Amino acid sequence: MATTNDELADELIKGGYLKTPTLIEAFREVDRADFVPERLKKDAYMNVPLPIGFDQTISQPLTVAFMLELLLPQPGEKILDIGTGSGWQAALLAHTVGDKGRVIAVERIQELKEMADRHIAGYEDLKDRIEIILGDGSKGYEEEAPYDKIIAAAAADEISPAWKEQLKTGGVIVAPVGASVVIINKVDAEKFETKEYYGFSFVPLISD
Ligand code: SAH
Repeated sequence: MATTNDELADELIKGGYLKTPTLIEAFREVDRADFVPERLKKDAYMNVPLPIGFDQTISQPLTVAFMLELLLPQPGEKILDIGTGSGWQAALLAHTVGDKGRVIAVERIQELKEMADRHIAGYEDLKDRIEIILGDGSKGYEEEAPYDKIIAAAAADEISPAWKEQLKTGGVIVAPVGASVVIINKVDAEKFETKEYYGFSFVPLISD
């Protein structure tokens, strides 16, 4: 069992979840222990979701790795991150999109938004690339659209039409639907290609 952040990354690589060099680097540089409550720091490198309060969890590392490998964030991209929670995934994204990229993160619970802001404030080079919005991400975030890519960490029964609309042509959405992860490619304004991967577990996306 992993007892350091690097060991956690190694475990994800060995398991075949983490492959892309820029993502591997992000997992090594962004320390998961910085995103969990004080009393759970000792468990931060376990490949399990952990409670962060308000009935929410920091996602399981293998799920985050799997979804980011589908999303394949690139330098310079603008990415919408729905369900910011602890801010861990937003920080991983910010690391991967580089200093010309941006991450717009949406969280509906004020205390978690503030917690994520505090976690990210500790990362000097990442904090200016991330903006956390308090609100209902099921409607996306029109003000900053369009996005190169959209990723969600909470599951709905279907992919929000607003996300599809706020996505650039050629863009990608990776999001949970029920107990699946789906990847959607926007081929053109009306045409979307979807692929589904079964067997995950997510907290629900709650629409206000
Ligand atoms: N990537 C995060 C996952 C947090 S769990 C992490 O690793 O920490 C999912 C989060 O989605 C929770 O914080 C929950 O409050 C939030 N959420 C649920 N429905 C939402 C909605 N409609 N808009 C924004 N956030 C939402």
